[in-house]
Amino acid sequence: MVDSANPYRDLPSVDRLLADPRVAALAVERGHESVAGLAREVLEGFRSAIAASASLPAPSVVDAVLARAETLRPSLRRVVNATGVIIHTNLGRAPLPRDAIDAIERVSAGYSNLEFDLDAGERGTRFSHLDQTLCRITGAEAGIAVNNNASALLLALAALCRDREVIISRGQLVEIGGGFRIPDVLRQSSATLVEVGTTNRTYVRDYAEAITERTAAILRVHSSNFRVVGFTEQPALSGLAALARERGLLLLDDLGSGALLDTRAFGLAPEPLVQDSVRAGADVVLFSGDKLLGGPQAGIAAGRAEAIEAMRRHPLARAVRIDKASIAALAATLDHYAKGEAEHEVPVWRMIALPTAAIEARARRWAGACGDAGSVEACESTVGGGSLPGESLPSSACVVAPPDGAEAFAASLRAASPPIVARIHDDRVWLDPRTVDLSEDEHVEATLARLLEAPGRGR
Ligand SMILES: *Cc1c(COP(=O)(O)O)cnc(C)c1O
Repeated sequence: MVDSANPYRDLPSVDRLLADPRVAALAVERGHESVAGLAREVLEGFRSAIAASASLPAPSVVDAVLARAETLRPSLRRVVNATGVIIHTNLGRAPLPRDAIDAIERVSAGYSNLEFDLDAGERGTRFSHLDQTLCRITGAEAGIAVNNNASALLLALAALCRDREVIISRGQLVEIGGGFRIPDVLRQSSATLVEVGTTNRTYVRDYAEAITERTAAILRVHSSNFRVVGFTEQPALSGLAALARERGLLLLDDLGSGALLDTRAFGLAPEPLVQDSVRAGADVVLFSGDKLLGGPQAGIAAGRAEAIEAMRRHPLARAVRIDKASIAALAATLDHYAKGEAEHEVPVWRMIALPTAAIEARARRWAGACGDAGSVEACESTVGGGSLPGESLPSSACVVAPPDGAEAFAASLRAASPPIVARIHDDRVWLDPRTVDLSEDEHVEATLARLLEAPGRGR
């Protein structure tokens, strides 16, 4: 009860505030000094409020400290992805390999030879750092990395097809997500789009009949995020390559995800491999750095030396250039492929390869923390990120049937620190351990236990 005779006496000391379990947890996360400072500010605010009204403000001092800390929190922060969607675009796509993070630190904390040739002691190019590894892994003559795949495509079209025609199948005029549509990118590049075939069927002869003296290239776009089934036909890349070669055109292949490992080895449908496109004769193969490649945000173009050189020289290359931190991370990620250890070192592939039994054991431990509200059920993880549509990996989830409804419980999970993002299905909350790092299990279990225990206890 508040001692209304002297409300100042009801104010806790800074030390007592810091001993509160919730404030102590905040201090672990943000640093003791910074939280002590916050506590002093809040206490000062309470003293002014008491001076003005002779009574203690309504929220508890602890709540006020936590609320103030919340408003000072950086907007972009780590979250726990318990959705089971491995490449979750809204949650930042691919988590980076450890070596990639170390590489970022090495080149970002000080200066680097980003555009400096150490042998010659003169100006170099940022493109030199990835060229060799890209060629080694993909089999291409040359490679370039830019800001993301959308800009790689824009740059390829601008540099190689300016004011000329680009032929594309109607079945491939796709929207990738976030309102990004292939025909819009083509328009921005000042290339002219020539549509051939129908939504479900396009033949090599459709492309052949559309070629004029203004044609610069044939563009193939991988239908990353949907599947056309039934009466369908799209020519093999080798067929398009033969046509392009015969008529002196370029063949551009936008793979989107750009797998470098064979997804079939993991029980998934085949996703086109970058190496296969290069081998089949594509002049430029385009793919993302942060989808199935499992690295930082980037767009990669691998292909014929002349075409890549034209992209490097184009003025747009400067506008869409990749930064040093991403080059470092991408180089480290690609190195895992070069060494044949990507399946173990690249988190995206590690998650794809996780054995179901290991996932189930973790789901069981999580459910154990939920008391009567928790159970373990079979579920399906997905690869996501515009790859392998309709494909899933058998998994196990901790399923919570919360007393106050799934929406409210999911919101409480998101309010945890770090926030936990789960899926709602069938009025229950599903948490799939496949996409949760082992180091985060303790936080998930503790949060589930805290949210589901009897009201009032330990809150
Ligand atoms: C995802 C995707 C893109 C865009 O890649 P970003 O790296 O997100 O810019 C382009 N084309 C295809 C086919 C895609 O799947």
